[in-house]
Amino acid sequence: MSPTGGVSHGVSPQGGTIETVSPAGESAGIVIVGAGQAGFQVAASLREAGFSQAITLVGDEAELPYQRPPLSKAYLTGKTDAAGLALRPASYLAEHRLVHRTSSRATAIDRAAKRLHLAGGETLAYDHLVLATGARNRALPVPGADLPGVYQLRSLADADALKAALGTASRVAIVGAGFIGLEFAGICAAAGRDVTVIEAADRPMARAVSPEVAAFFSEAHRQAGVRFVFGSGVSAIENGAGRAGAVWLGDGTRLAADLVLVGIGVVPNQDLAAEAGLAVGDGILTDAFLRTDDPAISALGDAARVPSRFAGGAPTRIESVQNAVDQARCLAARLMGHPAAYDAVPWFWSDQGRHKLQIAGLTVPDDARVVRPTESGLSVFRFRDGHLSGVETVDRPGDHMASRRILALGLPLRPEEAADPGYDLKALATGRA
Ligand code: FAD
Ligand code: NAP
Repeated sequence: MSPTGGVSHGVSPQGGTIETVSPAGESAGIVIVGAGQAGFQVAASLREAGFSQAITLVGDEAELPYQRPPLSKAYLTGKTDAAGLALRPASYLAEHRLVHRTSSRATAIDRAAKRLHLAGGETLAYDHLVLATGARNRALPVPGADLPGVYQLRSLADADALKAALGTASRVAIVGAGFIGLEFAGICAAAGRDVTVIEAADRPMARAVSPEVAAFFSEAHRQAGVRFVFGSGVSAIENGAGRAGAVWLGDGTRLAADLVLVGIGVVPNQDLAAEAGLAVGDGILTDAFLRTDDPAISALGDAARVPSRFAGGAPTRIESVQNAVDQARCLAARLMGHPAAYDAVPWFWSDQGRHKLQIAGLTVPDDARVVRPTESGLSVFRFRDGHLSGVETVDRPGDHMASRRILALGLPLRPEEAADPGYDLKALATGRA
């Protein structure tokens, strides 16, 4: 896609050309479905790189594109307001000629005609279509899960409802000890609420972090007053006078609760792609250049499964801001004629109580664990086949930053070096070792 002019071609990674002219011969520009973190960043990066044709963001939410992380952090505690969540002010969209169609849902893709169908019957022509549809919360499949008083957290509207409920709740039950559950538990405990977290696995964040980091956070949350029930599913939510009154566990235990938050993971929004005949499988499948099996359609962010060198080249779906932003930059560069395989180091953070968890790399439960002795906080280095695969740190930003660089450059760090508190990680990361 050239930055100027109506007829444009980009060089594909395989050396062919990506046809970017609309069937009518006029430039229809780029249409992006999903005006979230990834979709907005594609639009912004295209403009920053000088793309001059039309860019249309189609989003089914009412607000300006906004960041979700504060929804389970500063927004819930009142430290930031809705205006503080916006990725850019409205003036930015106007100045950069970004058309943002709010409360507008894409319902179908006509790939042959290169047109996107919207709810209400309108269609939009595209030269290139970007699917940045994100993910939605997994539903809790038990009786009572749809009662008033049962909440989920994905959108600003969800956060507003949850915040209002927290104001009057006294007993909170949280289903799922993942990132949403634990961040909310920290907020509830700090607000003096009685809070219990119910988790099917035997520890929190079981898939995402090592047992050592899980134990650190279990203890920190317990000290703040959070109760945990591990190894237990929820069988029902009791209707107490028309709203949630208690949570029933699989073993028959009843936990009284007037606010229930369900945070049991997400499912990718891939239906639009699947119904258009694009390959999907726990996410919209792309190549390393974020291209679906239709060269005129790309996908990225929470919705996409992209080969990752950090997973041995396996298609991988990552749910994080870093992933959404870096994939967006990679895609914008390709659409501007600078193709490169997506190769950024995955990294991630979570604020829980007064502690900051940071993760770099991609690990699997079988990866070896090396705990580095530290004066405060915690650093756990993970190794696969003798090579560093990831690093989890708690309140150790220096170790996190050094590890990110070591992973990005593929620098050789041996397990015994990671375990030696005298070994200078920063020197290795910056080439001074
Ligand atoms: P989204 O931001 O979800 O955007 C997708 C958009 O597409 C949505 O607005 C959706 O409504 C819209 N859409 C879907 N289908 C259609 C359609 N057919 N037509 C029109 N619009 C459509 N990550 C971190 O790294 N650190 C954190 O601390 C962190 N905290 C988080 C806290 C919360 C409460 C949540 C919910 C997420 C958090 N995340 C965090 C994850 C991070 O926000 C996501 O990974 C990121 O938003 C993914 O960006 P995305 O653009 O792929 O998806
Ligand atoms: P998550 O981090 O995937 O955690 C979900 C947790 O719920 C997992 O521990 C899961 O266990 C457990 N679970 C699944 N089914 C259950 C059931 N029926 N009963 C009890 N527990 C169950 O997902 P999330 O916390 O819901 O977060 C949703 C999204 O928001 C994710 O994309 C997440 O990355 C994002 N988010 C990120 C942050 C952050 O990065 N700081 C903060 C908030 C939200 P299993 O793994 O065994 O299934």
